[in-house]
Amino acid sequence: MTDWVLRGGEVIDGSGRPRWQADVTIAGDRIAAIGATSRVEGARELDVSGKIVAPGFIDVHTHDDRALFATPQMAAKASQGVTTVVVGNCGVSLAPLVLDDAPPPPLDLIGDIPDYRYERFAEYLAALDRTPAALNAACLVGHSTLRVGAMRALDRPAAETELTQMCERLQEALDAGAIGMSSGLAYAPAANAPAAEIEALTALLRPAGALYTTHMRNEGDAVLDSLEESFAVGRAAGVPVVISHHKTVGRQNFGRTAQTLPIIAAAIARQEVGLDAYPYIASSTVLSAAQAERALKVLVTWSKSAPEQASRELSAIAADWGISAAEAVARLQPAGAVYWMMDEADVQRVLRFEHTMIGSDGLPHDVHPHPRLWGAFPRVLGHYSRELGLFELEEAVRRMSGLSAARFGLTGRGILTAGAYADVTVFDPETVADRATFEAPRIPAAGIEHVFVNGRPVWTDGKPTRERPGRALRRQQLQAEAHHS
Ligand SMILES: [Zn+2]
Repeated sequence: MTDWVLRGGEVIDGSGRPRWQADVTIAGDRIAAIGATSRVEGARELDVSGKIVAPGFIDVHTHDDRALFATPQMAAKASQGVTTVVVGNCGVSLAPLVLDDAPPPPLDLIGDIPDYRYERFAEYLAALDRTPAALNAACLVGHSTLRVGAMRALDRPAAETELTQMCERLQEALDAGAIGMSSGLAYAPAANAPAAEIEALTALLRPAGALYTTHMRNEGDAVLDSLEESFAVGRAAGVPVVISHHKTVGRQNFGRTAQTLPIIAAAIARQEVGLDAYPYIASSTVLSAAQAERALKVLVTWSKSAPEQASRELSAIAADWGISAAEAVARLQPAGAVYWMMDEADVQRVLRFEHTMIGSDGLPHDVHPHPRLWGAFPRVLGHYSRELGLFELEEAVRRMSGLSAARFGLTGRGILTAGAYADVTVFDPETVADRATFEAPRIPAAGIEHVFVNGRPVWTDGKPTRERPGRALRRQQLQAEAHHS
């Protein structure tokens, strides 16, 4: 029983193979067929001639743990053609953790005290089942979240009893359906976690067939040490490692991705390693003096103590207040910021690297967010593929669908083929473009025409449809489907 016919478009299937013209039919939550189709009684037809029909994009690097509930239409992502988000990155997940005190940065990027209310990971997934969002979600457990839940003081390695508790909670999360664990070793809550602590936790991932993602300890002067540390964790645990938002930061490290990428390629030859990147020269996270000092420019994205300063440059705030930038950082706390600290040549080199997946790293709760939240995927398709010619459109799509689904084990998604889940994005290859800017960061992209999740439209005519067909993707189910396909 066909529900939709997408007629006359060019199919880019997510595998990297060249596009071809075909109709795509959807029945229930699946792709029914790809090929010439006559008119079907009762099915809705969309004329998509001149448009690309692609697998829905997978945002492998998000902080949407709470956004799935707070903004269930997920317009920031649906408007980019994203149909699945991987949440819980950089060591920070909403579950499993119950808080009575303010979450320490960077846990405050995704929630406040009442948002941290899931004692067990199973409760978080059950909440997603009960109140689904428009998009699918695959969930990582944050190492920093485990630390905050188990430790009285975070400025040291976990004691044995604390580590035991962290292991129990991680195991519960894996049993509930988490796809892996993330770490954020660059951040204060995890900076004093030694390799042995990470290895004790990641040892639980292998029996589960789960993976490890890491916001490395250092992306600046010591980036090579951090890469080696990350690979060593993967080797010791025997699990795939994903290097999050790969970059080299700080002026003295401009150009060093020419060094890191061959090292990553060599690691990929001997163990399972992946990486993701967002297509901008500015990063964004909590506001810290150390990061502000290294940046060429700093834009404040939110501040609890001075909310009116969001969207202003740190240097202007400091000048207004007649104090130093470092003093302004202290007065704005807790706060978030955008930091200009990458070189465009590095961004392009990482994007061109054949193993790089696209992840937005968007921060959905920021008052004045980094434009990657609304623009990352169309920016790769429009600016970097069409305008700069970094790669063919087929390759751009593969980096945001087929490659990502394979790396994260998202069975039945990321490739447009008969029998796959009907996560589909229809876009105009001539006009697709990011429109969100650092000044006006919430402008939806151009050229994303129709987005389907599990066979139901979630974004059409430049608006969310209000349908909420998203699912919590559990590891066990994904693995079972992989064995049957
Ligand atoms: Zn991160």
